[in-house]
Amino acid sequence: MKKIIFTSIILLASCTAYAQEKWAIVLHGGAGSAPDNMTKEQIALYETELLKSLEIGKQMLKDASSALDAVQAVVVSLENNPMFNAGKGAVTNSENIHELDAAIMDGSNLKAGAVAGVRDVKNPIKAARLVMDSTVHVLLISDGASAFAKQMGLEIVENSYFTVDKKVKQHSDKGTVGCVALDVHGNLAAATSTGGMHGKKWGRVGDVPIIGAGTYANNNTVAVSGTGHGELWIRRVVAYDISALMEYKGLSLEEAANEVIFNKISPMCGSGGGIIAVDKNGNISLVFNTSLMYRAWAKSNGEQGAAVLKK
Ligand code: ASP
Repeated sequence: MKKIIFTSIILLASCTAYAQEKWAIVLHGGAGSAPDNMTKEQIALYETELLKSLEIGKQMLKDASSALDAVQAVVVSLENNPMFNAGKGAVTNSENIHELDAAIMDGSNLKAGAVAGVRDVKNPIKAARLVMDSTVHVLLISDGASAFAKQMGLEIVENSYFTVDKKVKQHSDKGTVGCVALDVHGNLAAATSTGGMHGKKWGRVGDVPIIGAGTYANNNTVAVSGTGHGELWIRRVVAYDISALMEYKGLSLEEAANEVIFNKISPMCGSGGGIIAVDKNGNISLVFNTSLMYRAWAKSNGEQGAAVLKK
């Protein structure tokens, strides 16, 4: 009898401690200030669009696809959606030209690929993935990145393809997109794509394609995708800092994300933005210091949601 009770206690203890999710996925469509006139209908429309993209990644993870393929597929769908500042719908620079940045990272081997300042690649995240998979490099820029994408058979478009009617994206000035995931194999991945900051200088590169700033994934810690004032994300090495706080200081994901966004980013001038993240146990974090971040999430335990405004 004693033995049975002892075994049951051990089993119960290990079940309680074992909060490991089989898979988890989070996406964002940018952060910023909520416009005063934002209606319930507009919020509902964004939530519907975010959930559509989430569903793509969720189904892939359920079918045992890799986190890497899932985050890429989600970001492709958001790039193709004119409501966000990535791919079609991207903002323009000071010369009225769309220049796009994107990055992807595989937490299982720390491989990463990125492109910056591309003007004619329909889906920059696909080019970033090919940089990772098919070259010995991490980051290709501008014409070199475009020539490579063309050579690899990616779809090339006119710069005007990215322009959409202002009304379609009236609330998406800060609508960079990103996705992070944990797959059933225990691997983490992150992907981010953006048109950058509206009116940016010609040739400006933001945080998104800078590994460790706007995008980072490491199976030992966390996968992170950021959105916000890119220069600060670069200076604070935001995504890597969250990982480092977890790795070296033993902070939980929530503690690390709050520390970086509220104690390191918030005090800096012009510091609005946020991050989405998933750790190796499937804990998720959606932290932002703005009044709005387009976001959606799902976990293997059935938890799922989408939101726009701060709760
Ligand atoms: N982080 C992006 C950039 O600075 C912009 C954004 O997320 O809104 O390029």
